[in-house]
Amino acid sequence: MCKRFLWNGETQVKGKALVVWDILCWPKVAGGLNVIDIYMWNKIAILKHLWDLNKKKDKLWIVWVHTFYLKGRKPWEVIVNQASWIVRKILQARHWLEEKGLQIAEVMETNEFCINAMYKKLRGEYIKVPWRRMTCNNQGSPKWLFALYLAINRRLYTRDRLARWGITNDTLCPLCMEAHETHQHLFFTCIYSRMLWQKLLNWLSINRASNGWTEELNWAVEHASSKTIIAEVYRMTLAAIIYYIWQERNYRIFQNKERNIEMINRAIIQGIHCRASMIPRFIGFMQKLNFYP
Ligand SMILES: [Zn+2]
Repeated sequence: MCKRFLWNGETQVKGKALVVWDILCWPKVAGGLNVIDIYMWNKIAILKHLWDLNKKKDKLWIVWVHTFYLKGRKPWEVIVNQASWIVRKILQARHWLEEKGLQIAEVMETNEFCINAMYKKLRGEYIKVPWRRMTCNNQGSPKWLFALYLAINRRLYTRDRLARWGITNDTLCPLCMEAHETHQHLFFTCIYSRMLWQKLLNWLSINRASNGWTEELNWAVEHASSKTIIAEVYRMTLAAIIYYIWQERNYRIFQNKERNIEMINRAIIQGIHCRASMIPRFIGFMQKLNFYP
């Protein structure tokens, strides 16, 4: 249900997921979206009850379980068939932990049981992706960041991908009508997006020509991963342009509407000023960018 809601905004099955759900549950630094794996979280929450049974013997429900079922034995050593559903679930929780390769007695005898810490422990270590700062440390609007995340993973439904799945024969870029629509082309070798990106690079006083997506992303990782204000504003601008180009492309395909480069340029700059105005450390820097290129 969570998967369906993320991709469609509703709980009905509709369409194809853009990114595999397991990957979305990974931490952001590893290229996921840090979506909680509810199944695992729930299992750990039940284990917490098992730990409570062992440690907190002053609670009424615990005294009751001890008196009727445990009778002096450890909660994880007991097999109870004749008990309520919830008591059986709690007492059986140890099986799941053992499947995960942990010693139940060891976990149960700890002085503290934190669901979040156990979740992180069981989720394991992940390899950090080099582009993590693009999405983790970015003050852009959530919808910009989501578009950027999909573009980084090359998961937007560009026409080259749709054609590969046999969904369309038309692979022409709706922005320039001159080349195949791919991630590499849209961001930013297309004449339309290239001119727009060039304007924004000029706005940020970055003297270089715009490039294709692979090169742009590499450049951003190398030059805009730091915590300086300019790097932060750059990351925000990158997220904004991806979102606005993708939106423009969709307007042209699905709504027959068109905006020129100037209009999008203004919308992006206004959007960035609006986001930055909420962050005090950005204010001085943004005053220097108080113009349209
Ligand atoms: Zn194009």
